[in-house]
Amino acid sequence: MTDTLVFPAEALVAAVTAVVRAAGSSEREAAQVAANLVEANLRGHDSHGVGMVPRYIDAVLEGGLKLDAHVAVRADSGALLTLDGCQGYGQVIGAEAMALGIERAKAHGVCVVGLAHSHHLGRIGHWAEQCIDAGLVSIHFVNVLSRPIVAPFGGRDARIGTNPFCVGIPRPGKEPIVLDFATSKIAQGKTRVAFNKGVELEPGTIIDDHGEPTTNPRYTVIEPIGALLPFGEHKGSGLALICELLGGALAGGATAGPVTDGRRRVLNSMFSIIVDAGKLGTAANLAQEMESFVAWSTASPPAPGVERVLTPGEPERAMRAARLVAGVPVDAVTWGEIVAAGGKVGLPAGEIEAMVRRR
Ligand code: NAD
Repeated sequence: MTDTLVFPAEALVAAVTAVVRAAGSSEREAAQVAANLVEANLRGHDSHGVGMVPRYIDAVLEGGLKLDAHVAVRADSGALLTLDGCQGYGQVIGAEAMALGIERAKAHGVCVVGLAHSHHLGRIGHWAEQCIDAGLVSIHFVNVLSRPIVAPFGGRDARIGTNPFCVGIPRPGKEPIVLDFATSKIAQGKTRVAFNKGVELEPGTIIDDHGEPTTNPRYTVIEPIGALLPFGEHKGSGLALICELLGGALAGGATAGPVTDGRRRVLNSMFSIIVDAGKLGTAANLAQEMESFVAWSTASPPAPGVERVLTPGEPERAMRAARLVAGVPVDAVTWGEIVAAGGKVGLPAGEIEAMVRRR
C-alpha cells in the first residue's frame, strides 16, 4: 500500500488550476477543468478526479487535446442538435453542450443532443446534474475512443471502452436520482487507482493478456494489457454495445477499433436525451409516483451488512459531505504524477507543493 495524502478541496482546485494553466489553457478553462475534477473526487469517483491530470497534460503535449476549444454546431433542427466537441477539454465542452441542450429542452420540451469528438467528459453524472439543476430529466449514452480496455461478453481480449450510461431525474424538494456507471465491472480509472495504491482487484473484474482471470491491476495499466470484463455478463456487454452505437455512431462520432498510435488522448462521444416533464404533461405524476416508489423500494429490509437501501446518487452525496469536511485523499503515487505533469509544462514542483496545505 502506498501513502495517502489528504488535501482540502479548494487547495487541490488551486494546484490543478495552476498545472492546467501552465499547459496553456486560459484561466477560465483551467479553473473549470480543476473544479470538475475535484468535484469527481469529492463525490468519491477518484478514477475521474485529479488523477486524470497527467494524462490530460500528455494529451495536450501530443496535440490530441485542443486548448480553449468550444462546441461547434454541425446540425440544428430545434429539438435536435448535432455538436462537435473539437477535441476540447470535456469539462468545458460537456458544460457548453448541456447548456445548449437545456435551452432547447425548455423551449421544445425535449432536446436530443449528439455530441461527437469531445476530449474526456469525466464523470457523466456531472452532466445529468447540470440538467437536474435546470429541472430536467436526462439520459446519456457515452462511448470512449482510446485504446480498447473492455472485453465483450464471451471474448478474451479488449475491444471496447468502459462506455458509461447515466440517467438523472430531479425530485422536487428532494435530492435527485443520479444513476451513473461504467458498463465495465469497474471504471478503468479505478484499476489505475488500485495499481497506484498497490492493492489487488476483486476476483472476476479483469483478465490478463492471455484472457485468463487475474486480480493484478497491472494488466489494465501497463504492458502487457489484458481487459476489464463487462458488468452483468451479456446484459452489460449489450448496453456497452448500445453506448457504442448511440453514443459513438448516432451522435456523429466514431466507434471503437484498434488504436496503434499509443497516444494518450481519450475522446468521448455522447448521445443525450433531455426531457422537460412539465412540457410532457407528466411532471406531477412523475413526482408523485417517484416518491411512492422510492419510499416503497427503499423500505425493503436491509440485507446482512447493509445499513439501508439507497437510491442512486446517495452514496456520492454522502461522500461529498464527508470529504468537504475531512479533505480529499490522493495517493502519493498519483500526487507525484500530478507534480511531474506540472514539471513537464514548466511549473516547478515547489510551486505546486506550496499551493496545497495538507491535512
Ligand atoms: P459505480 O460502480 O461506483 O456506480 C455508481 C452508480 O451506482 C451511481 O449512480 C451510484 O449512486 C450508484 N450506487 C452505488 N452504490 C449504490 C448503492 N449501494 N445503492 C444504490 N445505488 C448505488 O460507478 P463506476 O462504474 O465506477 O463509474 C464511475 C464514474 O466513472 C462514473 O461517474 C462514470 O460516468 C465515469 N466514467 C466515465 C467514463 C468516460 O469515458 N468519461 C468512462 C467510464 C466511466
